[in-house]
Amino acid sequence: QLTGYEHEEVLGENPRILKSGKNPAGLYLNMWDTISSGKVWQGEMINRRKDGSEYFEEMTITPLVQPNGTITHFIAIKQDISDRKRAEEALKLAHEQAVESNRMKTQLLAHVSHDMRTPLSAIIGYTEMLQANVYGEIPVEQKNVLTEIQDSANQLLLFVNNLIGQAQFETGKILLKPKYFFVEELVEACRDSVTYSANRKGLQMQYEIDPSLEQAIYGDPYWLRQILLNLANNAVKYTHQGLVKVRLFCPDQQHWTMEVADTGIGISKEAQETVFEPFRQVDGSKTREYGGSGLGLSIVKELTDLMGGQISLVSWPGVGSTFSVSFPYIEKRA
Ligand code: ADP
Repeated sequence: QLTGYEHEEVLGENPRILKSGKNPAGLYLNMWDTISSGKVWQGEMINRRKDGSEYFEEMTITPLVQPNGTITHFIAIKQDISDRKRAEEALKLAHEQAVESNRMKTQLLAHVSHDMRTPLSAIIGYTEMLQANVYGEIPVEQKNVLTEIQDSANQLLLFVNNLIGQAQFETGKILLKPKYFFVEELVEACRDSVTYSANRKGLQMQYEIDPSLEQAIYGDPYWLRQILLNLANNAVKYTHQGLVKVRLFCPDQQHWTMEVADTGIGISKEAQETVFEPFRQVDGSKTREYGGSGLGLSIVKELTDLMGGQISLVSWPGVGSTFSVSFPYIEKRA
């Protein structure tokens, strides 16, 4: 049935009538070596039916060894596995296509994000110059409009930088460029970009730098800023009244910490387990009140891990949340 031959046609024939010519010579050599030394051979090969069509065969060949040690027969148990092979091939192809399209998605993400960052920097830069009266005195109402533009552009920049970070993580291309820098720079960046949104919501914004952190410290200021901006931005976004406090301090002599505390909606115990996963939001429904992509905290987590840091979250629904990220402290001494 498997081969399409009748009983009479194959009696006395050699199994080589099934040869398709599609198998490597080494396969037969290995098979004959194995079975003629009295061992069982298991394998797959492509054979040809009487009508010329080919099929995948899986087989086990057992030599029949007589009491005097001679081999008189071989018993082969064979199975047509063409369907399984086809399914395996289709699966392999689908997998390759999925990997390829994921790679292209990541590449597109990286390119688009890069191309967005350049014009965004120009928008932010020129807005700042207008604000600073570089192009002449500007009336207050127009300054307010400029602040709105600046705020929106900063939000967009944070998001674009998160996308770039995510794409770099996916391709393993994220590179840290650590150097000595002053922690005030981090707080400044935060002050520039979140204070306005906080004030507009009537929230109080507080910044505190522990005096023991006044020396330059060692780290990648670009990605550290991205961590702090994400945490502070979330704190403002998920708080309706009260206070957002950004604090930089040394919990002990070997570490330094960035802490962002808010009096916002808080995060339930169950949700605290998943908020650091990519694209995860506590309330993922379409009617969700807050915007966002669910990317911020996963970037924060990945960056913190990469920098050898630790992240901790204490939060109570309806009371508020405190996110802290701690890093090994390498201080530059004068
Ligand atoms: P998103 O773009 O949705 O803000 P994040 O990854 O930054 O994505 O955060 C994931 C989820 O964690 C948010 O959707 C929100 O539900 C919750 N979350 C993050 N920060 C806070 C916070 N300070 N207070 C309350 N919930 C928060």
